[in-house]
Amino acid sequence: MYRTVDIEAGEDISPLRAVGVMFTAKDEKTQFLQPCAAFREGCCSAYEGRPSVCRKYRCALLRRVEAGEVSLGEARRLIASTLALRDRVRPELERLAEPQEPLALDGLYRLMFAKLDAAPDRAAMKQSQGKLLLDVAALRVLLAKYFEPRDSESHKAE
Ligand code: SF4
Repeated sequence: MYRTVDIEAGEDISPLRAVGVMFTAKDEKTQFLQPCAAFREGCCSAYEGRPSVCRKYRCALLRRVEAGEVSLGEARRLIASTLALRDRVRPELERLAEPQEPLALDGLYRLMFAKLDAAPDRAAMKQSQGKLLLDVAALRVLLAKYFEPRDSESHKAE
């Protein structure tokens, strides 16, 4: 979903560095790159030393599990199917969008739609990409419904 995530000022990033996480700087902020290199085999390999942005990030699905509205098994299945959809969609978006720099999914969607709209035969182009457009729409719904946080304090990422 995100390309980079902000680290809060003054935080110790050595636990992330130790597991190979890459950093960048923007507007005097330190950011770490996504997908996060600390994520391995379904877990955070820097869990004890993860940054506060990760500690605060509470997606809608986690909240629903905690509220007993969704079982852990259902949540895991939903995560697996969303990752599978993402892994199908993302390479196709990159192929069509041809970004000049790494982009988060939203940036890829926008670039791809701009390219399709600018194509001389845009109706035919959109028709030929019908399956991908449906997959993109389904992925965006899943991400918005389950994986975005529900409050503005829980993360700062782009
Ligand atoms: S919680 Fe996730 S994003 Fe944060 S450091 Fe761990 S694997 Fe990376």
